[in-house]
Amino acid sequence: MAIWDVIVIGVGGAGSAAAMHLSKAGVHTLGIDQYHAAHDRGSSHGQTRIIRQAYFENPCYVPLLQRAYELWNELEDNSNRKLFHRTGLVELGPSDGIVIPGVRSSAATYGLPIEKLPPSEINQKWSGIRGEHDWEAIIELNAGFLRVEECVQAHIDLAMQHGCNLMHNCSVNQWSSNSREVKVVTDRGVEKAAKLVIAGGPWTRSLIPALSSKLQILRKHLYWFRPSRNGFREQEGFPCFFHETANGFFYGFPCFNGTGVKIARHSGGQPIEAPDTDATNSPVLDESDQQLVVDYASNYLPGLGSQVISTASCYYTSTPDENFVIDQLPDHPNVTVVAGLSGHGFKFTSALGEVASQLALNQTMPFDLAPFAIKRLE
Ligand SMILES: Cc1cc2nc3c(=O)[nH]c(=O)nc-3n(C[C@H](O)[C@H](O)[C@H](O)COP(=O)(O)OP(=O)(O)OC[C@H]3O[C@@H](n4cnc5c(N)ncnc54)[C@H](O)[C@@H]3O)c2cc1C
Repeated sequence: MAIWDVIVIGVGGAGSAAAMHLSKAGVHTLGIDQYHAAHDRGSSHGQTRIIRQAYFENPCYVPLLQRAYELWNELEDNSNRKLFHRTGLVELGPSDGIVIPGVRSSAATYGLPIEKLPPSEINQKWSGIRGEHDWEAIIELNAGFLRVEECVQAHIDLAMQHGCNLMHNCSVNQWSSNSREVKVVTDRGVEKAAKLVIAGGPWTRSLIPALSSKLQILRKHLYWFRPSRNGFREQEGFPCFFHETANGFFYGFPCFNGTGVKIARHSGGQPIEAPDTDATNSPVLDESDQQLVVDYASNYLPGLGSQVISTASCYYTSTPDENFVIDQLPDHPNVTVVAGLSGHGFKFTSALGEVASQLALNQTMPFDLAPFAIKRLE
């Protein structure tokens, strides 16, 4: 049995990036995942994820996002893959709502370029997007989407190039730690290391029972629509979009690579105790969610139509304040956790992997992690 410097449990969105940063730093790293690389059973699948910087949720995320942008660029260069499609993002909603004031606040705090337009002009620019006449619309040109599975695979490939050892299709059943080492019990035996990083996504509740009551797992649904006319493709300049409506937050992506327009509801979701174990992984339907998405499309995406050609489900793992958990476990300082990404974490994962590596190696932290501390949840 090898003794590792660091074991990473979970090689999904955040864990693949952590494994890459650790091994790039010359750290003897083992990554363990219960499924195959870039699988579709957790939170990091479904083709695309929106990436943006004028963060309506809270300006405190912007420095982390600026670093994430640098690291996505680096990952594209080093992996020779196109990961980030800068389609721009149109955000629409009431001027006294959550999204528009939040975007304005982050943009003003950090001097980020945004363009404000009345919704009527948005509809003139892209006839497939509309908003209510008394809303505001903001365009963030520096936003777009990430190809989610490709990003995970790129981190995994580079981690391996830097000498990382990966055990896929191997479950962690238990872990323990004392002041000298951590011990991880898997399907295939016991592994030991000086440090542990846990990036278990929606399985964090079982991996870290102490956090279980603070994390809610939501099953979420994605829908691909076949447009009833031209104008919705990335090559035609159609952007990503995000609406704050009376029925909640909805967002979507242009067609690319011959797929439909992908739409989802950011609000809502089905609370569940643990991720599904159905081996066929057939999407679980939620008719009321689908109806809300179809209604949204017919109200705000003129010409898209209502033909849903495919669906998928995926999980949010949400904290009560919807801010992430990025911390060392209070009773186990040699265990770093990245969890509770609350349905908006993928765009950050390039930076979260670096932060997890810095925490595990007790390096100077260039970010204020106070908003993400475990103790705020107590
Ligand atoms: C429908 C949907 C839409 C989203 N849209 C966006 C968006 O537009 N923009 C954005 O930024 N974010 C978005 N998100 C959120 C983002 O995708 C997630 O926050 C992020 O992917 C979570 O990454 P993770 O590493 O925490 O989890 P995962 O990627 O699920 O990784 C966890 C890994 O841990 C492994 N694991 C767990 N337990 C064990 C064990 N016991 N043994 C071995 N391995 C284990 C799992 O197999 C898995 O690979 C969306 C999420 C969903 C579901």
